[in-house]
Amino acid sequence: PIQQVVGAVAQYQTGAAALARIEEARRLPAEPASAPAPLPLPGAEPAAIAFENVRFRYADDLPYIHHGVTFTVPPRGMTAFVGPSGAGKTTVFSLIERFYDPGEGRITLDGQDLADWDVSGLRSAIGYVEQDAPVLSGSLRDNLVLGNPDADEADLLRALKTTRLDGLVDRLPNGMDTLVGHRGTKLSGGERQRVAIARALLRRPRLLLLDEATSQLDAVNEAALRDTVADVARTTTVLVVAHRLSTVTMADRIVVMDAGEVRAVGTHRELVTADPLYAELAATQFLASTG
Ligand code: ADP
Ligand code: MG
Repeated sequence: PIQQVVGAVAQYQTGAAALARIEEARRLPAEPASAPAPLPLPGAEPAAIAFENVRFRYADDLPYIHHGVTFTVPPRGMTAFVGPSGAGKTTVFSLIERFYDPGEGRITLDGQDLADWDVSGLRSAIGYVEQDAPVLSGSLRDNLVLGNPDADEADLLRALKTTRLDGLVDRLPNGMDTLVGHRGTKLSGGERQRVAIARALLRRPRLLLLDEATSQLDAVNEAALRDTVADVARTTTVLVVAHRLSTVTMADRIVVMDAGEVRAVGTHRELVTADPLYAELAATQFLASTG
């Protein structure tokens, strides 16, 4: 990681871009092994993802976190992951990004083992919005172009529109060039997460991974987030670790996880009657305690 950081500082012109690379390097434990002849990940079509009996632990001397996780996500649409804190939801995303590789079982993208794809190609096809996605000081524009330095004005406006931030930009004194404060403190939590989504969308991801913020959102931000996810899911495969009933109820499928296992998969209507844990989570509106 140190070498990546030094390299990044030399490579990038702006401090903000270097910070983003540092952020990326920080969360990469190690470069995963590539296949002898990695396949370039082509295309722009929404991706299909499948876990096949995945067993995983973070280290050999640590207990297993996933005990045979299996689910299938077809291209397009929204899949919500719900379950108590520690169930292994965020770990699903770390494995898809190949921050780690499963000990046993298989994860496939478009039917091909993740390890067969070129790692940088894989990562550039994925938009990953972490639970506390970083918004940096600088302008809103600076924060957006981190996602894709080649994005033009029309791309930026489109991403802002999709994330329902266009109204905010109209109200800001200097529009997109308004400074957002240290770590984005001039934005609300809901706006910061949507800025992070807009940044991810500028890469035209084939797969969007969204780890929803656990903090409470006001009604306006909650509606904006829900509409954003619904929009993106029309053209991209969207996986959401969800903490809000408003997100979950519109999912095409919900994967209920508990203690490293998939308990049930279904729609909200199906699961409310079929799965007591889901019914309980839904009754408490998945309040922030679900982690
Ligand atoms: P969830 O998102 O459902 O709350 P996580 O996937 O974050 O659950 O975590 C599942 C389990 O894995 C937890 O017990 C957590 O402490 C453990 N864990 C998460 N990240 C790491 C890590 N980097 N190293 C070791 N253990 C971890
Ligand atoms: Mg989590």
